[in-house]
Amino acid sequence: MLKLTNINKSYTTGDFTQQALNDVSLEFRKSEFVAILGPSGSGKTTLLNIIGGLDRYDSGDLIINNKSTKKFKSTEWDAYRNNCIGFIFQSYNLIGHISILDNVEMGMTLSGVSAKQRKKKALEVLDKVGLKEHAHKKPNQLSGGQMQRVAIARALANDPDIILADEPTGALDSNTSVQIMELIKEIAKDKLVIMVTHNADLAHEYANRIVEFKDGHLVSDSHPIKKNEAEREKYKIKKTAMSFLTALKLSFNNIRTKKGRTLLTAFASSIGIIGIALILSLSNGFDIEIDKFERDTLSSMPIMISEQAMEMTEEKIEELNNLDKMEEYPSKKVVYPQKPITDEMLHTNVLNQEYIDYIEKIDSKLLSGISYTRATALNIVTKVNGQYRPLTLTQMEFSGLPKKLDESKDGVIESNYDILAGQLPVEKDELLLMIDSKNRISNRILEALGLDITKSEISFEDIIGTEMKLILNDEYYRQVGNFFTLNMDYDSMYNSNNSLTLKVVGIARGKEDKKALTSTSSGLSYTEALVDYVIAKNKDSNIVKAQKNANYNVLTGEQFINNDDGAKTKDTLISYLGGDGVPVLINLYPVDFDAKEKVIDYLDKYNEGKDINDQILYTDLGDIISSLSGSIMDAITIVLIAFSAISLIVSSIMIGIITYISVLERTKEIGVLRALGARKKDITRVFNAETFIIGLCSGLLGIIIGWLLTFPANKIIEALTELPNVAKLNPLHALILIIISMTLTMIGGFIPAKMAAKKDPVEALRTE
Ligand code: ADP
Ligand code: MG
Repeated sequence: MLKLTNINKSYTTGDFTQQALNDVSLEFRKSEFVAILGPSGSGKTTLLNIIGGLDRYDSGDLIINNKSTKKFKSTEWDAYRNNCIGFIFQSYNLIGHISILDNVEMGMTLSGVSAKQRKKKALEVLDKVGLKEHAHKKPNQLSGGQMQRVAIARALANDPDIILADEPTGALDSNTSVQIMELIKEIAKDKLVIMVTHNADLAHEYANRIVEFKDGHLVSDSHPIKKNEAEREKYKIKKTAMSFLTALKLSFNNIRTKKGRTLLTAFASSIGIIGIALILSLSNGFDIEIDKFERDTLSSMPIMISEQAMEMTEEKIEELNNLDKMEEYPSKKVVYPQKPITDEMLHTNVLNQEYIDYIEKIDSKLLSGISYTRATALNIVTKVNGQYRPLTLTQMEFSGLPKKLDESKDGVIESNYDILAGQLPVEKDELLLMIDSKNRISNRILEALGLDITKSEISFEDIIGTEMKLILNDEYYRQVGNFFTLNMDYDSMYNSNNSLTLKVVGIARGKEDKKALTSTSSGLSYTEALVDYVIAKNKDSNIVKAQKNANYNVLTGEQFINNDDGAKTKDTLISYLGGDGVPVLINLYPVDFDAKEKVIDYLDKYNEGKDINDQILYTDLGDIISSLSGSIMDAITIVLIAFSAISLIVSSIMIGIITYISVLERTKEIGVLRALGARKKDITRVFNAETFIIGLCSGLLGIIIGWLLTFPANKIIEALTELPNVAKLNPLHALILIIISMTLTMIGGFIPAKMAAKKDPVEALRTE
């Protein structure tokens, strides 16, 4: 049953208050066809909106099922509209972007009827209004009369008890109007139909009861309810709720009608994502590359222990910084003596036998090799075209090969060099010729090997097997009184039984992918066996014996060293001449990154609890390089991501604006949905669904474009750095970015979506 008692409703615009309904009391039968007549502005629409729960009355009461609606919650009103009321409007109010069928189904969709049942029922009512064949058309493909039939079908679909029709024939020609009236009359057989019209003829012809309004007052009622005519039957009210899927479908269909705009919006807001995706894939790729580089190359870069090491402890750096804090441009007329910065930083490592023994005890699995550089004089004489020549090669030109620690595994040379001809030297009299990446080698070395350097190229075969002589100290130097001086008799030296013929047995070149490590080393390399041999021989040499007994001045081939200042010079002399065999430089080659860490731990352990002067400091070149490149990459990444993040924020504001525009465009739809029983929440949902779709699109678009851009980016990087496939998009990053994109667009669209929900349904329906 439905009853209005003393309903008042007024609208205030500015200072002016319009009394739209004035103390209206009216009761309706469960099933009758009521026509409401009255001039324009007499309050007819207001009455319908109040009966339909679209608008609230100011005072009085609307009684549904014997129950006052004064304390109705908004969800109860929503349910009431959805289940009990079917609206038919003068301007049809169909949702333009979905099909006729979907329009008719909408009320059932809101009340959660299953898809199958919805379709069955919708087709049934469409059949009733004679439009079954048009079910899949869009509203704008129909005539006015047909659209009004769709609206009637929609009003009937959820099987409401009350149909409210506001001038349903107002926009139709008279023939069509008659057809529509017939249809409504048919419906009114088992329902309450309240129809507003200003066509009195049609009203009198079709309606059972005529109610007239004027200036918000009820002026006449042709068939009022009598006292004893009590109605017992009740209307059913069931709660409504739109599922997110329905909201998605609705928004998806709406978005489909404006593909271009959606695509542009998604693209614009994906730019930030593209930026971040690209930066992340680049930095990710560089991290992987640097990691690989570290593992492959930097880790096999030796840990250097030399007589002089840079002391880069935190205290040292602090100390140097403090020096910098001295007053600038002081007025005091004094000068401050300053130690050279290098002196401040340099630490003298005293490499002694104890330390060598310690080094020798390193777990051999951790190292692929150890090389010792000793200031041992390897005296070389060559014979070129019958002429003897003493040779002085620099340490770069003539150096020891790293000692192989584990015979079963590849050593430093095998893993970093290609043997291009011959084989690796093993014996003490075997040499390896190292050439650079362009197969070049110094003239001096070639000459030393007796090769003709006037030729533009020399074949490997010509080089393998070439020889030079190693002369021991006792034959190379001659004692004259208190001096040792060069023995110039090369013929006897060269042919002595004690001199050793060294032969080139192999040619090696650094592997292409080990460029960083190997590109600078070219020259001749000798085996550790040779060093052992020379040290053993020199130990008992006259020159060393003489050294041990007294202070001697020694004249070597290149320099005269005076020992006036005592013991220190004596030490120097002995090491120059290979007396005690303690190296001046030790290179440790770790097998891999983890091994390197362990080796470093081992070296640090030696220094524990020792006085700074007794500590042995090492230099880890690989670490210096990688920490440098790593931190630069990190800094660049952060700056670029910050920039892209700004564009993400801009795009989420843009999404907010776009959603706001969409809300304005879809105001009518909001009104229709509310009239069909959609809750405020459902309206929010519709727009959240829209931003969800746009966010997803822009996220996906951003990831796809970002990913596609990694290909040209890789081409460019490869051209610049020769590193292939640096840019790699981590799938986890991609997923996170899509989620970020969706979250940001949802946040951007949240306020407009809330605004949409707050819209007054009556006003929403009023907009054109
Ligand atoms: P009818 O449908 O009989 O033509 P309405 O019920 O639409 O009349 O309106 C009754 C009166 O209330 C009119 O004077 C109209 O201007 C006023 N009115 C209706 N809705 C509003 C509104 N939302 N704001 C201000 N005035 C309104
Ligand atoms: Mg009206």
